[in-house]
Amino acid sequence: MATLTDPAVKFKSQSEHYTADACVVWCYDDRFYKLLKAFGKKQGFKNIDLVKVAGGAKALAGEAGADRDFVIGQVKTSVRLHGTKRVILMLHRDCGAYGGSKSFEDPEKERAYYESQLRAARDFVKKEAPAIPVDAYFADFDGLYLID
Ligand SMILES: [Zn+2]
Repeated sequence: MATLTDPAVKFKSQSEHYTADACVVWCYDDRFYKLLKAFGKKQGFKNIDLVKVAGGAKALAGEAGADRDFVIGQVKTSVRLHGTKRVILMLHRDCGAYGGSKSFEDPEKERAYYESQLRAARDFVKKEAPAIPVDAYFADFDGLYLID
């Protein structure tokens, strides 16, 4: 049996506190996890607070309710605890939380819908946390696209 002197995994975690380069709201669909790692590397992020939930920013684009309260609460807590510098919102193609690509007439309409959802989510976060810059990204199978 494991004891306090006999860890299941021996590993040195950083013990110093940090300022978060970003709070990232990302879908837990594992097909896009490597994209997140590549994005973080390109951005030079050292520390991020990752809110990884089904649908990514979907809850922030939707009606008031428990899901939206939970996700915006996580963002605000990140800012409070870690002085978070920016918020990154993500939605992706073929997201199960939206019924997958099969729910859309064609790939262009699917993307356009996600873009409108991302703008709605961004507007909501900006209203809730006006001091923090918010960027919204659409993740596709060929890369990550910043939404204007
Ligand atoms: Zn998803």
